Amino acid sequence: MTATRLDGRRIAEQMKQALQQEAAALHPRPSLRVLYFDTKVSQLYWLVQQQTAAALDIDVGGGLSRSECLPSNATQPQVDEVIRRWNDDSAVHGIFVHQPLPPGVDPQRVSALIDPRKDVEGIHPQNSARRFFARARIGSCTALAVMRLIEETQEPVEGKEAVVVGHSEIVGRPVSMLLLDKLATTTVCHIGTRHLEDHIRRADLLVVAVGQPELIKGRWIKPGATVIDVGINVAGGRVVGDVEFDEATARAKFISPVPGGVGPVTVMMVMKNTIEAYKLQHQQPSHESS
Ligand code: NDP
Repeated sequence: MTATRLDGRRIAEQMKQALQQEAAALHPRPSLRVLYFDTKVSQLYWLVQQQTAAALDIDVGGGLSRSECLPSNATQPQVDEVIRRWNDDSAVHGIFVHQPLPPGVDPQRVSALIDPRKDVEGIHPQNSARRFFARARIGSCTALAVMRLIEETQEPVEGKEAVVVGHSEIVGRPVSMLLLDKLATTTVCHIGTRHLEDHIRRADLLVVAVGQPELIKGRWIKPGATVIDVGINVAGGRVVGDVEFDEATARAKFISPVPGGVGPVTVMMVMKNTIEAYKLQHQQPSHESS
């Protein structure tokens, strides 16, 4: 068997066309502010976000209220100040803070500080709580991207053995919630998991978000499985995922490549969430309302 590749770039292009129409109908135009850092990875991701926003006519800068770059050793007060300023600015509809954060900056504090109605990553505790009750208004952008790729297979999720590797707050946990919502029998593996291979071997649906190059061996993949690789790693001078791609392709039915799988869809989900955030703010003036 050779797996069908789940082409994230094509899916992102389809989403772009739909979002362009949606964004064009909104006045004033939606605005996203990105806090990024003076590191190679953050600068590169900012460039991609800028280009994507421009294609959708989503405003990411200009004037006093523009996206900002802080030094890679920025402090908590510096990060807090930028977020507070954007929270208070009614012309800003979406806020995205790049991770990894500088050393000493607390990710949980950052998630909780962002106005939940502007939280385009879906990481604020209020948005996480809503996801727990399957009532999310702004979903986790990476988890939604994973679900969009799974949808592309047109295979039912209900009743499948789903295994998620990684239990981070921004990827593993939200993905596992969304899989539960779809009635998959969901196992979450993490650093404390014994016999990881045994779990992988019985996964009909495997989502891996760890950040370790080719941690998951191709020979572990259940024949006919769907494999979604979220990991982005640089190894041997090239970008690879968390799954041994060629070996897994020989066993899976569907597989998402790295690069070109989850990544482009996630970037587009941030833009989609910006539009959702815009609509939310035009419906409810107070950011305390539930
Ligand atoms: P984190 O580092 O926050 O989380 C990694 C998770 O993997 C943790 O839950 C960790 O457990 C777990 N883990 C670490 N080692 C092992 C192991 N040997 N076996 C099983 N579990 C393990 O990373 P993120 O969730 O933020 O990101 C994961 C990967 O996805 C990264 O490569 C990142 O670059 C990529 N990413 C890609 C995106 C995209 O759009 N394509 C978006 C976001 C992330 P513990 O915490 O207990 O150590």
